[in-house]
Amino acid sequence: MSDIAADLKAVRDRMDAAARAAGRDPAAATLVAVSKTHPAEAVRAALTAGQRVFGENRVQEAKAKFPDLKAEFPDLELHLIGPLQSNKVRDAVALFDVIESVDRPKLAHSLADEMARAGRHPKILLQVNTGRESQKAGVDPDQADALVAVCREQYRLRVEGLMCIPPAEGDPVPHFCLLAEIAARNGLAVVSMGMSGDFETAIAHGATHIRVGSAIFGGRPQDKAMGSAQGGAHESLKP
Ligand SMILES: *Cc1c(COP(=O)(O)O)cnc(C)c1O
Repeated sequence: MSDIAADLKAVRDRMDAAARAAGRDPAAATLVAVSKTHPAEAVRAALTAGQRVFGENRVQEAKAKFPDLKAEFPDLELHLIGPLQSNKVRDAVALFDVIESVDRPKLAHSLADEMARAGRHPKILLQVNTGRESQKAGVDPDQADALVAVCREQYRLRVEGLMCIPPAEGDPVPHFCLLAEIAARNGLAVVSMGMSGDFETAIAHGATHIRVGSAIFGGRPQDKAMGSAQGGAHESLKP
């Protein structure tokens, strides 16, 4: 078994145990394998080991890596988990199956227009800046309900759920609880939260999707791809 296959299995086993401990169905949480900065061969190793859902945080990088893999594995599901600029909306709609980082009305508007134009409809999650960190993307928690409403009523976008990246320091639990609460009161089924350092805690607090990179693919050099907008949360678990 490759390192990646073994690490994937270890993460899946930990997910299972966390779900059972929380009295949840182990199938209730989906693993999004975050492959940013890692080469296509690493993604291929994960695909060979049965993983099908992947996350990337940059449109350009994903565009270089994934079209061939998607042709080869038609059931591959690709999530955009990083900030999306308006000038990348066309590429994002063409490539991604889920866009987790919608955080402003103007972006929702661009996405709605492009989906209508292209006839392709990726699922949409709204990113919530639960820690109200000025350097981080995401809608302010106080404005989340309003953004859900604008997406639904003004742009006819079907919002599936919410995503958050808690502050790098401190207890993530209040952030996980806040995200789950905003999702519940808006009737949103998908809650994307938890990374390598805290995914078991996220599962205990209702995550339906966890986004795990370094625990599967190993460390990232310098973690530049996270960018300041994403914060440096949860550094790699591996040397
Ligand atoms: C990089 C990244 C992750 C995965 O982080 P790890 O700590 O490597 O598991 C999750 N979510 C987002 C938005 C990221 O940018």
